[in-house]
Amino acid sequence: MKFGTKAIHAGVEPDPTTGAIMTPIYQTSTYVQASPGDHKGYEYSRTQNPTRDAAQKSIAALENAQHGLCFASGLAAIDAIIKLFKPGDEIIAANDLYGGTYRLFTKVFSKYGLKFHFIGMENIDDIEKYVNANTKLIWVETPTNPMMNIIDLRGAAKIAKNHNILLAVDNTFATPYLQTPLDLGADIIMHSVTKYLGGHSDVVMGALALNDDQLATDLAFLQNSTGAASAPQDSFLVLRGIKTLHLRMQRHSENGRAVAKFLQSHPKVDKIYWPGLSTHPNHNIAREQMKDFGGMISFTLKGNDKEEAFRVMESFRYFSLAESLGGVESLVNHPASMTHASIPYEERQKIGLVDSLIRLSVGIEDQQDLLDDLKQAIG
Ligand SMILES: *Cc1c(COP(=O)(O)O)cnc(C)c1O
Repeated sequence: MKFGTKAIHAGVEPDPTTGAIMTPIYQTSTYVQASPGDHKGYEYSRTQNPTRDAAQKSIAALENAQHGLCFASGLAAIDAIIKLFKPGDEIIAANDLYGGTYRLFTKVFSKYGLKFHFIGMENIDDIEKYVNANTKLIWVETPTNPMMNIIDLRGAAKIAKNHNILLAVDNTFATPYLQTPLDLGADIIMHSVTKYLGGHSDVVMGALALNDDQLATDLAFLQNSTGAASAPQDSFLVLRGIKTLHLRMQRHSENGRAVAKFLQSHPKVDKIYWPGLSTHPNHNIAREQMKDFGGMISFTLKGNDKEEAFRVMESFRYFSLAESLGGVESLVNHPASMTHASIPYEERQKIGLVDSLIRLSVGIEDQQDLLDDLKQAIG
């Protein structure tokens, strides 16, 4: 089955009792048993729910995975992965990460004796320097948020395999339409489904996708034992969103390309971070592991003036100033004071996350309206 067909059909069966083509919202906490232990595969909705099952199967199919697990948020999905480990274990993570992931690692899990190393991974060989007998996981985002760095997934997978370490990839920015990391050797895919998979800015949800049966059993155990499974209504909204994922990602990428080109030609714009530009340092790796480059773009203004960046962000008509990304509507964000404020100032400077950095989530509106809006806002 090709991607667009999977987006519409995978994981979804007509409802067995009525034939409803859309998986119903099974808004129930429990299921009646014929005699103790004699049930239809469903006992309690934290553990199993038919609407969640369909969402899990759909996401697994898109990622070419055997198993999918849906959580109440992206962070809950990450939380489950890290709970596979024990005090003394070490995790190597990319140093340009979603702010909430960084906060979860440094402020929550560091207290439990886990050790995190945050390193630049643009040169994949740098990972090896941090591997030791306690290393259990490599944590990667690509493209990274918000600097749009590209990490070589095949290279990272090779290092992980050589040392018997797991490789987990936060595939939120790319989505399985643009890249399928399991096919490149990753062990676990994580999604903030809140973003492109949901696609309509109306749900918060997370997911994991993976192939290994034992690891899937362990993560399903954590999903049930810690209780952050996704709710039926949210699972339904995500199933609906996924049906147009391929169409949306095509348009996000087209609009992203047009916006990147426009910014390149603008005299007030300094740096542009979008992996589709041939000037991007890892453009060739992006071309190898991604089908197209999506709608996430960051840029800075000449002079690095924070006040001027604020003026631009407040001047948009169609790019709404908000956290989050990946919805049909265009959004603009100031990482330094919004999504990435939980990363210390010095750490932000090290990775180029300066005060004039503006992040765009380019939506699927008509391209000319978006370009006109950028023109009038930047001035
Ligand atoms: C939003 C986001 C997360 C966190 O997901 P939530 O659904 O907000 O919990 C993790 N990683 C990336 C790249 C994100 O953009």
